[in-house]
Amino acid sequence: MSHRSADVVVLGGGSGGYAAAIRSAELGRSVILIEENELGGTCLHQGCIPTKALLHSAEVADSARTASQFGVDVTFDGVDLEKVLSYQNTIVTRLHKGLQGLVDSYGITVVNGRGRLVGPNGVEVDDEVITGGAVVLATGSSPRTLPGIGIGIGGRVVTSDQALVLPSVPKKAIILGGGVIGVEFASVWASFGASVTIVEAMPRLVPNEDETISKYLERAFRRRKITAKTGVRVTEVTQNEDAVSVTLGSGDILDADVLLVAVGRGPNTASMGYEETGVMLDKGFVVTSDRLRTTVPNVFAVGDIVPGLQLAHRGFQQGIFVAEEIAGLRPDVIDETGIPRVTYSHPEVASVGLTETAAREKFGENVETVTYDLAGNGKSQILKTSGAVKLVVAPTGVVVGVHMVGDRVGELIGEAQLLYNFEVDAAQAAKFVHAHPTQGEALGEALMAVAGKPLHVHG
Ligand code: NAD
Repeated sequence: MSHRSADVVVLGGGSGGYAAAIRSAELGRSVILIEENELGGTCLHQGCIPTKALLHSAEVADSARTASQFGVDVTFDGVDLEKVLSYQNTIVTRLHKGLQGLVDSYGITVVNGRGRLVGPNGVEVDDEVITGGAVVLATGSSPRTLPGIGIGIGGRVVTSDQALVLPSVPKKAIILGGGVIGVEFASVWASFGASVTIVEAMPRLVPNEDETISKYLERAFRRRKITAKTGVRVTEVTQNEDAVSVTLGSGDILDADVLLVAVGRGPNTASMGYEETGVMLDKGFVVTSDRLRTTVPNVFAVGDIVPGLQLAHRGFQQGIFVAEEIAGLRPDVIDETGIPRVTYSHPEVASVGLTETAAREKFGENVETVTYDLAGNGKSQILKTSGAVKLVVAPTGVVVGVHMVGDRVGELIGEAQLLYNFEVDAAQAAKFVHAHPTQGEALGEALMAVAGKPLHVHG
């Protein structure tokens, strides 16, 4: 058996893994990065990037369909999914090449193969043992399924992996799960002309978001003729050549061409030697300290295998954190609540910090909230989007939550996350004027309302 070693060995080349590798290399460490598929992981190949390309095609379709509302004469002839997939593929391929070049430019050695942790500092790949001063586990996640009710993936029952590359647009689709993936695919397929029903077990869509935002999203989806059946579970799924049939706890039976199962993603931690080596798992997730150390000294974990938000940019942040921790820089512990969250549906949802409910639990009833409706925002009216910006303010006056819904509000999350992460006083922030006409003004108006001096709000 051959042998190689490096200062840092990273298992998994997705967002968390490659960020740990690049930051370690920047800090002068030798790095070996092990990846069984392709660099970039879920985000680049099955997640963020290809889905956002689909969502952009969906937006273009909506623009074409509604062009006459803006005085532009366009004939909308439909969506050519083959061309959409080719566009999607071009983006992924270009970014993938760029990433390979980037990793190479740092002198990082990439080993292509399936790694297995075989000791506190060793990973076996094929016939080679690779040892590191530190090992970073970054093996990501995969779509969850619901085996209990006969939902095997195959045929008309798909996860986001297959939904991304469907050869044709379904006429009717059922989506199980009204979380981020469910809502984004509902949005794409409705824009492409499908009739979509979402089935969500919790009482509302995007149940992790602030309740006000769910209400606005549900209203916007109703206007788009997307049906949401909330507070209901699926009891049985059957399929044949013609359709998939879904029985709900309420007794209703729904038929469709496709059933997308989007009930969360589970960690990829089985059969990789983690538990055998002493890395403690909890429900499959890797148990870590707040400094992302596992129960084995010098073995760290980042990304979707660590309990919490499963977001690419959290992976980047954790990867950078761990590289700096290994290098002895003692970086600040990451505040998970300060990680921005964006759902790229039409309309978009964007948030950072605490929901109103969470803030009331933490600070008591003196929490203040302001919801500024986009009806009062000029740019949003020009775009013909509805929605709102909601601020959650602690009794001290500090902004502890920003929640937004409306087309393009994802672009406002940068300012929102600075307000939260720098613990900005709302009245202080209200002094800074926003450019007119921008959607950012809605955030400014909400801040001014907290400061007791709203401008475009009825007196
Ligand atoms: P999720 O946790 O966001 O949503 C899953 C939903 O399924 C939940 O609302 C849950 O209540 C519901 N559910 C679970 N079991 C059910 C059942 N039996 N019947 C009906 N509903 C049921 O998970 P997801 O949407 O699958 O996404 C997976 C991960 O990927 C998430 O962590 C998400 O944040 C991430 N992701 C992020 C983005 C983004 O940031 N834009 C995009 C896609 C995915």
